[in-house]
Amino acid sequence: MSISTVVPSSTGAASIGSAHALKCRECGAHYPLDASYACLECFGPLEVAYERSTVTREQIESGPQSMWRYEALLPVVPGAAGRPGLNPGLTKLVRADNLAAALGAKAVWVKDDSGNPTHSFKDRVVAVALENARRLGYETIACASTGNLANAVAAAAARAGLTSVVFVPSNLEAGKIVTTAVYGGTLVAIDGNYDDVNRLCTEVAAQRDWGFVNVNLRPYYAEGSKTVGYEIAEQLGWRLPDAVISPVASGSLLTKVDKAFREFTELGLVAERPYRVFGAQATGCSPVSQAFRAGQDFCTPVKPNTIAKSLAIGNPADGPYALDVARRTGGAIADVTDDEVVEGITLLARTEGIFAETAGGVVVATYRKLLREGLIDPDAEVVLLNTGDGLKTLDAVAPTCQPTMTITPSYAAFDAAYDAINIGGAA
Ligand SMILES: *Cc1c(COP(=O)(O)O)cnc(C)c1O
Ligand SMILES: [Zn+2]
Repeated sequence: MSISTVVPSSTGAASIGSAHALKCRECGAHYPLDASYACLECFGPLEVAYERSTVTREQIESGPQSMWRYEALLPVVPGAAGRPGLNPGLTKLVRADNLAAALGAKAVWVKDDSGNPTHSFKDRVVAVALENARRLGYETIACASTGNLANAVAAAAARAGLTSVVFVPSNLEAGKIVTTAVYGGTLVAIDGNYDDVNRLCTEVAAQRDWGFVNVNLRPYYAEGSKTVGYEIAEQLGWRLPDAVISPVASGSLLTKVDKAFREFTELGLVAERPYRVFGAQATGCSPVSQAFRAGQDFCTPVKPNTIAKSLAIGNPADGPYALDVARRTGGAIADVTDDEVVEGITLLARTEGIFAETAGGVVVATYRKLLREGLIDPDAEVVLLNTGDGLKTLDAVAPTCQPTMTITPSYAAFDAAYDAINIGGAA
């Protein structure tokens, strides 16, 4: 291994720059950069390892207006590129003063990833997986999805001229079925939950020479989530917040936001400082939150039953690593009921004009709960991740979000109906 440039590092463990190998997260064994994801020695998950490099704020700032401004910190295997991508990222970091006031907190931001091309943060992970898939020679890309990944894979494949095969649970929201099928490709609905879908995909991946973005390409896919953390730091003016609250499905996003903060610190792009990483789950699928509460370092699988379907992974692959990050940073992982999720969605919509999907509702409601329980300081600067768009999960709020009144088209009818519901209120 050649070390191109040595960066001064507080930990001495900087490992950022051009990808040079896959490395087992459990035993450290190294493997070539190809489409493998499990260690042959110990079955541990593989992660991309990098050679050290330098990157400056100026280089990043003068890069593309997308997540590819951080390309130097993302894994891209050698090979021919050149097919168009969707170029997600650089989504808004919205200062949420109204939400903060409503919750008695001081400084809150919403990292709003509903602004991505298919309206969720999954466009980021797909961008990195797809770039590597085509360099590795795959013509067909596939995935097991709780919904948003299906959208992102089908759309990115369409734009790149690749074939897509997407596997989802058959009980998904219409807003995720239609918004996948519209891009063409093969959409396979499975009578089973996500964990069944994922198991089937592991079998299909062993039989067919396809690039499964979250199976055999998972080490590359997972690194795409780091760009959420990079952007938060850059958009705060090259500094880290006191705390981040991430939704947790497999647990990957949460761990990669932490990784992004550590890398930026090691590279000297932000000042070193403590920060806390919190995780948010729906009670109806909360294996990681339950393990956190029980003081365990493993997750006991559950059968999901929640309106937050994008987070409904009962057997989360990165659960133990998410627990690690929350504990190491002084954060926590907590869960909220489906009713609280709906309250979280409407609270964010009514204070900030942001319509989050159920996963965003989980995060807002978890923030409120952590404040109430004293687990987050109301003076802390907190970034909430909204990872998806409420238009995809209309069913969650439809029962409580309906017309205020339905009337005949006459002024008298309006006058009477409006006054009836606004007695004592504003005219
Ligand atoms: C996939 C997803 C997540 C979480 O993903 P991880 O598997 O934990 O990385 C969060 N929010 C939404 C909307 C998602 O689709
Ligand atoms: Zn290993």
